[in-house]
Amino acid sequence: MNKSTVLKEYFGYDSFRPLQAEIIDHVTSGNNALVLMPTGGGKSVCFQIPALLFDGLTIVISPLIALMKDQVEALRSNGIKASYLNSSLSMQEQDAVLWAAKMGELKLLYIAPEKLFSGNLMAMFKELKISLFAVDESHCISSWGHDFRPEYRQLAIIKDEFPNTPIIALTATADKVTRKDICRQLHIPEENTFISSFDRPNISLAVLPGRKRMNQIQDFLKTVPNQAGIIYCLSRKGTEAVAANLLGAGIKSDFYHAGVPADKRSRVQERFIKDDIQVIVATVAFGMGIDKSNIRWIIHYNLPSNVESFYQEIGRAGRDGTKAQTKLFYSYGDIITRSRMIQDSNSPEEQKELMEAKLERMRQYAEANICRRRILLSYFNEEMQQDCGNCDVCKNPRSRFDGTVIAQKALSGIARANQQVAMGMLIDILRGSRNQNLLRAGYEELPTFGVGKDLKFEEWADYISQLLNSGMMDIAYDEGHAFRLNSVSWQVLKGERKVELSEFISAKERKALEDEKVPARKSKTEIIRNELFEILRQLRKQLADSLGIPPYLVFNDSSLSEMADRKPISPGQFMTISGVGQEKMRRYGNVFIEEILKYVKANSEKGVRLTKGLTYHVTLEMFKDGQSMEEIATERKLSPTTIVGHLVKLKNEGEDINLKDLIDDFTYDEIAKGMKAIKMQPNDPMKPLFDYFNGSIDYGKIRVALAVMGESN
Ligand code: ADP
Ligand code: ZN
Repeated sequence: MNKSTVLKEYFGYDSFRPLQAEIIDHVTSGNNALVLMPTGGGKSVCFQIPALLFDGLTIVISPLIALMKDQVEALRSNGIKASYLNSSLSMQEQDAVLWAAKMGELKLLYIAPEKLFSGNLMAMFKELKISLFAVDESHCISSWGHDFRPEYRQLAIIKDEFPNTPIIALTATADKVTRKDICRQLHIPEENTFISSFDRPNISLAVLPGRKRMNQIQDFLKTVPNQAGIIYCLSRKGTEAVAANLLGAGIKSDFYHAGVPADKRSRVQERFIKDDIQVIVATVAFGMGIDKSNIRWIIHYNLPSNVESFYQEIGRAGRDGTKAQTKLFYSYGDIITRSRMIQDSNSPEEQKELMEAKLERMRQYAEANICRRRILLSYFNEEMQQDCGNCDVCKNPRSRFDGTVIAQKALSGIARANQQVAMGMLIDILRGSRNQNLLRAGYEELPTFGVGKDLKFEEWADYISQLLNSGMMDIAYDEGHAFRLNSVSWQVLKGERKVELSEFISAKERKALEDEKVPARKSKTEIIRNELFEILRQLRKQLADSLGIPPYLVFNDSSLSEMADRKPISPGQFMTISGVGQEKMRRYGNVFIEEILKYVKANSEKGVRLTKGLTYHVTLEMFKDGQSMEEIATERKLSPTTIVGHLVKLKNEGEDINLKDLIDDFTYDEIAKGMKAIKMQPNDPMKPLFDYFNGSIDYGKIRVALAVMGESN
């Protein structure tokens, strides 16, 4: 077998992603490699396919014990012989695994690093044929990385003990120093480093103004029913409050943070993985040890402290490659909170400076007026050729205008109120609102009272935030968030400096623009598609529960979505769905096909047009019932040639159909003779032959005979 066949037959995919094929070739030729790919980029097949192509056993070293079971289950459900060894197994279970390895019954063995060097395992492996070592999460080997694990240090021994066995190290996060360190320790030549793009184009990016966050979340959740997602909050209290709010709104949700007892934490995680909880509200602690591929959205309730964390957290969405959404709430207050946390920490001054600098990059991202993905990728030293088209700035570019007058109004409002007012009051003054507090302070007497009536409250809030964010004014957090003027403010007030602002776009307009591609009213086809998707999703859940595995291991969302779109109803068609390899076909194919058939039939009675696939299938069912071609044609009001066409197509798709059953030997021979007489080739038009027989043999029969001849060639 070659690598493409393995990809298709075991994993059900038609083509490699960028670099996968090169890496596989490189490794199977016996070379060492370091692979850098983002989460969800497709690292696993880079060692799993070589494992299958090689004779012998591949050892996969991974620190994520909690994930091993799922990873092995994922391989097994693709028909690949795999097992794992870690401290969660009993002695007996471990012995059984080792025995299977010795007997050559395994292609891949996952193992925790501390296990590898315990007992006489290394000695035992020397007796076996080890074809490849794969070191997953290989940044753990470097004390420069963010996740150093001392037990990874020992992996340097591997190359001494197995000098001729190739080794492949993989990671999703490694800066230059860490990369160098991995290569040095595992004896991988640095030039054997494969770095794929860190772009995740299926993940949409958006920044939302941080006002009325809970309302915005609730509105958003209405647009993503049943879709799993994570909301990241800064504080433990925050997670609990948000989760309570969602529960109150009837959304299946729970919170997760380091203060929750371990057993409850793992229960919450388990329920999320199994699609029993839709939303997890968590501190950053959540997400490290999960491989759930169908997380459809991520919301940052608060601003993350740096771009690395942010990118890692949003990277947990859409690992299956299907569309996923991410949203970040941002207001200037978030920066201040973060900055305070840095200043109040016990870190050395130097460290604080670094953290502030990183926070500043995060701020630039949140306030960007250019494609946000460009900013993210440039942070990771990657340049994009064009704007992404999948971020809020791209979808909805804000035009800039001369906002000097607006700025002057706001700043003079602040000056006139003796720099004692915060956002709400300043806007009320500008808009001339007569609320009690304002009247009590006598602000209605100010010359600036009512000068900004022409703008709505939200517009003022947006423009004032922009002024703050661009340093045109300051804010005194310790004095009730009162606005303060600085030297730039005075330049603006004196007319010495122009101010550019980005045009205000209301939340409603923003939403409309974001939803632009989704027509307001769903088409009939789309409704059907979504209904079927939901039915298949429930079937997947049932199957998964009965097998005790997470639903995404049965089929991922992208396979399910393709099934809902294309409605495969024969094994041949089902096999063409991305992610359906032979083993998954064998395990789940018929159950899913039956469900799809049932659905399409039920809907055809409701007047929904039959899909092309179904019409074939009706023919097939009648044929299997023993009806002749003519009978089928009469009953279905179709021509016999059409019926033959159906059967030939189904046969080509893998249905067990004997075309010869459709024609008697005598007629077949007559047709063959007739063809010779008029010198007709199988691909020539049928009419001359039909005429030759003066209509005594119908087109259906001729078509069958030609198909049978085509087969015997
Ligand atoms: P990583 O380990 O890099 O986070 P995975 O190896 O888990 O990513 O792959 C992420 C997802 O992409 C998995 O669902 C995997 O099956 C899928 N995938 C990998 N390679 C391909 C491919 N060539 N075509 C389609 N899907 C792929
Ligand atoms: Zn963009």
